[in-house]
Amino acid sequence: MSKGPNDEGLIFETSEDVEVLPTFDALGLKEDLLRGVYAYGFERPSAVQQRAILPILKGRDVIVQSQSGTGKTCVFCLGALQSVDTSSREPQALFLSPTRELAEQSQKVCLALGDYLNVQVHVCIGGKRVSDDIHTFEAGVQIVSGTPGRVFHMIQQRHFSTRHIKMLVLDEADEMLNRGFKEQVYDIYRYLPPSTQVVLVSATMPHEVLEMTHKFMNNPFRVLVKRDELTLEGIKQFFVAVEREQWKFDTLCDLYDTLTITQAVIFCNTKQKVDWLTQKMRDANFTVASIHGDMPQKERDAIMQQFRSGSSRVLISTDLWGRGLDVQQVSLVICYDLPNNRELYIHRIGRSGRFGRKGVAINFVKNDDIRILRDIEQFYSTQIDEMPMNVADLI
Ligand code: ADP
Repeated sequence: MSKGPNDEGLIFETSEDVEVLPTFDALGLKEDLLRGVYAYGFERPSAVQQRAILPILKGRDVIVQSQSGTGKTCVFCLGALQSVDTSSREPQALFLSPTRELAEQSQKVCLALGDYLNVQVHVCIGGKRVSDDIHTFEAGVQIVSGTPGRVFHMIQQRHFSTRHIKMLVLDEADEMLNRGFKEQVYDIYRYLPPSTQVVLVSATMPHEVLEMTHKFMNNPFRVLVKRDELTLEGIKQFFVAVEREQWKFDTLCDLYDTLTITQAVIFCNTKQKVDWLTQKMRDANFTVASIHGDMPQKERDAIMQQFRSGSSRVLISTDLWGRGLDVQQVSLVICYDLPNNRELYIHRIGRSGRFGRKGVAINFVKNDDIRILRDIEQFYSTQIDEMPMNVADLI
């Protein structure tokens, strides 16, 4: 079961003295919000929640970095829920996420925590009907959780009025400020009131990203976890030396029973590879589901729903699933391909071992991948051992 929040043993670096609040009561939340927190089943704030929520409530710009699964989503959801005025129907908080699934997940968490607040939280993402978006904005919402493309479209078309926005959250901030998204994020930022509070959240925050934050943040309060604390203690990491690409498939088939003990996610580096592996597994009579960004949104939604409910147990994915998604039963992650960068590795393995649960990550390494694996090991001061025979006992 989950470890108590105070037993996380994390070492934080904060930009200034931080008040550590051991209970939700101490935060001074609205009564109906506090009720929602307890009704959702939370008893005590996690280590990052104990440190990062208060500065947000005080209106500071905040950068929050801590491991996957330590409760960051709830940090910004609580911040937004506390700050919005539900007697108004104007959008007041905006969350931007790199994937549609993440935007939806944050909306759900917000709605659940805000269950007693009568708050409207709208998901504004591509792949859904524009007319539905327009309709919802007309009816009025207080919080918007979306992906940059659709959000910008709604702002430009004047369906989404940003006049009353008080808070902008960039979830997976390093990804949002990466090429690809950066321009879109700045385009949206330009439409927000100058006083907008900015909150950045991620498990990884490379130096370059921290450096560019002065452009749009005002003396941010930083809650950062130390880098060598980043690989969660509860996640055991292994490798299987497969020598050649062709041997990965047999290795995966041998592991199939282990995969289905709870739930597992298998990561490949490309969409084509996901499709290929899915087909090959099915041809060999294994039941697997798969997801990537080229699938129609309806199909993605259905696959996510089945995986969340546990009716599918093995999911093959690109890094679309690498960041942020929270399915507590996932206890095994396989990197069929090693990721292309160090940050992705942390995000991938963080899909297991959510909120202090046990997790196992298994990396398939070809001869020429060993260097990359050692680099990851060294960078995060962690240990990746050869997979033992009894790996199933560790899950
Ligand atoms: P992150 O955003 O850091 O990856 P999440 O906010 O998704 O983490 O939280 C990970 C899991 O832990 C979620 O299933 C969430 O419901 C649960 N969780 C978060 N905070 C608490 C808490 N204070 N007490 C119990 N469970 C929590």
